[in-house]
Amino acid sequence: MASKSGATGGRAAGSRAAGRTSDGKTPSSLEQLIEALRHLPGVGPKSAQRMAFHLLQHDREGALQLAQALDHACSSVQHCTRCHTFTEGDLCTTCRDDTRDAHLLCVVENPADQMMIEQTLTYKGLYFVLMGHLSPLDGIGPRDLHLEQLLARASDGVVSEVVLATNFTSEGEATAHYISEMLKARGLAVSRLARGVPAGGELEYVDAGTIARAMLDRRST
Ligand code: ZN
Repeated sequence: MASKSGATGGRAAGSRAAGRTSDGKTPSSLEQLIEALRHLPGVGPKSAQRMAFHLLQHDREGALQLAQALDHACSSVQHCTRCHTFTEGDLCTTCRDDTRDAHLLCVVENPADQMMIEQTLTYKGLYFVLMGHLSPLDGIGPRDLHLEQLLARASDGVVSEVVLATNFTSEGEATAHYISEMLKARGLAVSRLARGVPAGGELEYVDAGTIARAMLDRRST
């Protein structure tokens, strides 16, 4: 983890966390709480202030629960040594489950994506969770996603197919393309999640890009 280079974390911990306000005074407990809440994604100064007032005025018990849960999670949750998803031991429950099909390895961007695939009950293989996607502008490269570990894992002689299930955003597509080229250069079988019309979707209401993709990816029935 020493090679992390601060690409995915630490950006929010700039001058705000330095412990002093702009006029050089030590911030009050309330100001510190507001600043701490701003670490939550999508929370600006106004929302942080509203949350702080709400917790202090209406829900001190909930605030303490939140503080304890955060403290506990930060000290006990780590990354699975095999697939990088969040876990409390060395290996996550999926990697420890020997009923899973070890020939299949599905690559996803984050644990929420993995959970969605699990909910479909259609996939019984194992996972590799990138914990992000390639994003050169944010300084996130192959090392940050542990792609060398993915390559070693995919070439272990047990995995026979790698299923790329990164998002269909430009970053997700670029990441899938990079990984696909990397694995194919080693002669490994790679597949990509198919795109198409959503279940229950009426063509009239589906965007043209999705229909175009579904037409290109059509298969015989
Ligand atoms: Zn795991």
